[in-house]
Amino acid sequence: MKNYRRNFFQLLGISFFSIFLLPYKFLYSTTKKIINQNLTEKQKDIMFNEETERPYSSPLNYEKRNGFFHCANCDAKLFSSKAKFDSGTGWPSFRESLPGAFKTKIDYSLGMKRVEYHCANCGVHHGHVFADGLQKKRFCSNGLCLIFKPEN
Ligand SMILES: [Zn+2]
Repeated sequence: MKNYRRNFFQLLGISFFSIFLLPYKFLYSTTKKIINQNLTEKQKDIMFNEETERPYSSPLNYEKRNGFFHCANCDAKLFSSKAKFDSGTGWPSFRESLPGAFKTKIDYSLGMKRVEYHCANCGVHHGHVFADGLQKKRFCSNGLCLIFKPEN
């Protein structure tokens, strides 16, 4: 009887969490869709499975021209080159995004609390945003998710 009761509560526990997690997972995954049919496997791993590119692997680390960084999947304008800075982390980094460019969610993978951000237009993962001091934000971006378009 005791065992039965314990199992019953374990079962309740599982369904209790699923009630909250399932609709969220469902909603979140259905908002992501492949728009650019030419995405590479590596780009898809990052955008759809939240993987991370190797540090210092992106040529965008060294991009210094004026212009805008667009979503490699849906082409939405995400960052201005004015917000870009050298963070020394090996990933293209920005102090701010263009207004409304991203949505965020809390990510507990790797055993720590991080804020993941994804394209507000197509939903694909782009990176994590960190707080560098009180007012300063650092968008740590996967260069493979971005396309740079220079402007004069
Ligand atoms: Zn997008």
